[in-house]
Amino acid sequence: MNRLILAIDQGTTSTRAIAFEAAPEGGLQPVAVSQIELEQHFPQSGWVEHDAAEIWDATLQTCRAVIAEAGGVDRFAAIGITNQRETSVLWDVTTGEPLHRAIVWQDRRTADATSKLAAAGHEPRVQAATGLILDPYFSASKFAWLLDAVPGARHRAAKGEVKVGTIETWLIWKLTAKKNGAGARHVTDATNASRTSLMDLATRRWRPDLAALFNVPMAVLPEIRGCADHLGDCEPSLFGAALPIHGAAGDQQAALVGHGALKAGDAKITYGTGAFLVANVGAAPVASTSRLLGTLGYAVGDDVAWALEGSIFSAGSAIQWLRDGLKVISESGESEAMAQGLKDNGGVYLVPGFTGLGAPWWEPDARGTITGLTRDSGPAHFVRAALESLAYQTRDLLDALARDGAPRLKVLKVDGGVTANAFAMQFVADICEVEVERPAFQEMTALGAAKLAALGVGLIGDLEDHPVEAPERWTPRMEAVERDRLLGGWRGAVRAAIIAANPDPT
Ligand code: ADP
Repeated sequence: MNRLILAIDQGTTSTRAIAFEAAPEGGLQPVAVSQIELEQHFPQSGWVEHDAAEIWDATLQTCRAVIAEAGGVDRFAAIGITNQRETSVLWDVTTGEPLHRAIVWQDRRTADATSKLAAAGHEPRVQAATGLILDPYFSASKFAWLLDAVPGARHRAAKGEVKVGTIETWLIWKLTAKKNGAGARHVTDATNASRTSLMDLATRRWRPDLAALFNVPMAVLPEIRGCADHLGDCEPSLFGAALPIHGAAGDQQAALVGHGALKAGDAKITYGTGAFLVANVGAAPVASTSRLLGTLGYAVGDDVAWALEGSIFSAGSAIQWLRDGLKVISESGESEAMAQGLKDNGGVYLVPGFTGLGAPWWEPDARGTITGLTRDSGPAHFVRAALESLAYQTRDLLDALARDGAPRLKVLKVDGGVTANAFAMQFVADICEVEVERPAFQEMTALGAAKLAALGVGLIGDLEDHPVEAPERWTPRMEAVERDRLLGGWRGAVRAAIIAANPDPT
């Protein structure tokens, strides 16, 4: 049997293809990679767009490069897809051309629409069914905006002439369509569907009442499938064979699978520009009262993992600010030695609310705040406070998980650029009182998509991780008294940031 999987990782800033080989001893090994950067469009304040046609071209190019480098299409068994979540596309079914630029997950243009729904009291119903709060982040309000903005789109939607989808749905359509659109598959997977505000988490079906609430006709929505299902076969003229598409998951969920965080109490956090925690809560849902998001970890046949998710808006971006804004470091990596050069934080705390505070605070108007400055405070204190803030923010999310009654965390699996910083990782272990584990291979998102496709096509028997190299580990070693003192300082700083965002009118 062919032993290679082609993983497509369509991210916010780039499109990547990675070929993985199923090793005879278990596990998937990367053998070829290709990447193309993606142009970002900012047509107005708060608006972010991508060109879906550019995304498709880059997907074709990177896949072709990787197939050639890995020895030809005949060596491949299947394709798996992972993608930036929530980003929404509207296209013409006959031409296969997008009818508008894709609206990216960060885009806030539908804030008024979702605020109106919240003000009208719809949030409890939406949250109970979908796990999500009402926010322009999620796809439903973006789909509706596209249908309203493109002339004739609503009329054509009723006739089946236009469709919507998130990025994996768009790519699967393009991968399976003939030139005139014949044969195209219009499908999504349950994890991506769980980010629309339209899918009932319990049944994994669209909710007609929510589709009506958001004014999205059911006729434009894709079919919801499992994450390792057979989602279609590639049009043979694209790569030279009708490769089956056998897996799909949103990026954060794919990373959960990549890490092998498959049991209740397993969690992963990706520390990049922002940080995304996804905690596997097991086979039964846990409803959040702490403003975490309820979502699916994965759905493979009857094996369904529920998850809670929390986002930190500024993680690595705080380090970028030290570098590009304050200019106290010239490279991100310098931050480690600088922070370590201090015996402690000197009482200085940085709340990196540059773009507001995410879960569990959800304070969009909060801004970056520094507390505890004295005449002894220097550049190193700013650096240390920025790195420490990653751990405190993680702790806030883990406390929210605990308040929600999620299963106790056993180990925190980490990936992303910031995890190169050993000071920060030890500090996370200390402040969060949890073992931190970083795999040697870092492409967890692509690995997750590859694992799902390999499982779907029968190349591997389960989603467990079989790393060749041992992961790096950080074990908590801080005294409780010290931890409590630091957390007290952090909470004071968060309070200051929230108070500053709500100035006293008198
Ligand atoms: P993204 O996928 O969001 O673009 P990456 O996972 O590539 O992010 O991580 C990039 C981030 O990691 C940047 O914000 C950068 O400042 C930060 N970073 C990289 N190396 C280090 C380091 N040694 N210490 C702290 N932060 C780092």
